[in-house]
Amino acid sequence: MTSIATLGSHCSLQVLKGAKDEGLKTILVCEKKREKLYKRFPFIDELIIVDSFKEVLDQKCQSILEENNAVLIPHGTLVAQMSSEEIESIKTPVFGNKWILRWESDREMKEKLMREAKLPMPKPVTEPSEIEKLVIVKRQGAAGGKGYFMAANEGDYNAKRNQLISEGTISKDETLYIQEYAAGVLAYLTFFYSPLKEELEFFGVDQRHESDIEGLGRIPAEQQMKSDKVPSFNVIGNSPLVLRESLLDEVYKMGENFVEAARRVVKPGMNGPFCIEGVYDENAKFTSFEFSARIVAGSNIYMDGSPYYSLLFNETMSMGKRIAREVKTATESNQLDKITT
Ligand code: ATP
Repeated sequence: MTSIATLGSHCSLQVLKGAKDEGLKTILVCEKKREKLYKRFPFIDELIIVDSFKEVLDQKCQSILEENNAVLIPHGTLVAQMSSEEIESIKTPVFGNKWILRWESDREMKEKLMREAKLPMPKPVTEPSEIEKLVIVKRQGAAGGKGYFMAANEGDYNAKRNQLISEGTISKDETLYIQEYAAGVLAYLTFFYSPLKEELEFFGVDQRHESDIEGLGRIPAEQQMKSDKVPSFNVIGNSPLVLRESLLDEVYKMGENFVEAARRVVKPGMNGPFCIEGVYDENAKFTSFEFSARIVAGSNIYMDGSPYYSLLFNETMSMGKRIAREVKTATESNQLDKITT
């Protein structure tokens, strides 16, 4: 029997609960410090206790996963804490496409795939001296918005960068990525592509709540102007959103374009869950600043099913359960190689 394994963080509870509901064995790779937390949840069958998540690469951990015919579900913590080389060297079958995670982590590759998918993107700015409009300055990889800042011109950029360096938030030799700031309503669009059904499903929308850029919006301009704090975009949590129905057709089109582009660029393509992240402006035009090529933590708000999945499934379906359903179907029909890498 196949089992489902993941790292203890991000969306692991949802993933393993969904797997248990599908009748699969569940395994959590768990840091010692979190053992007490995860032991509270009876749907976790086995804990592999580690000092650091990198131990997932060790022979000991890999053997346990192999004995259990485990499929490893990648999520944001895996991407944030391991290099692309390390992820690609994992011997346990990884759900979806582990090769595309490199395209998520590397800003240039990310931009290339987004262009290939014809996603409208904010303009990148190559040099601080070329900042003409309000920009957002980002770090490499999935930093979760920590240490990101906004700048209006080169002087502003240098002042804020220096301040964050002196505070120890970013390092002096860190390459920063500058992009025009896109104003509007945040919308993180989550999809699931099933290579078994050859079908794209739209799962739902969430919004990220980020500190303390949101905190700044709660204080009057007078106090904002007196503050010399550089607000960050550190994600704290997520909340649900539904879209105007007239926007849905375009949403599916974006998802389909992304799946087709990924298939051309990084075989076997975009299998499993993924998320296109951006904002809708005043004309309901979407601009996308980012994608995640795996399950996102925003799907945690729909552990009891999402509004859009309730239209597709006559049962409660979380993203964790959807993943487990795909693994189960593939196992039963001997097609695991189609949904893992
Ligand atoms: P993740 O944790 O999703 O991997 P990340 O570190 O790759 O995040 P982004 O998602 O690109 O970073 O950006 C973090 C946050 O910064 C976004 O959620 C959004 O609020 C804001 N943001 C990023 N790019 C832009 C932009 N061009 N315009 C406006 N806001 C932006």
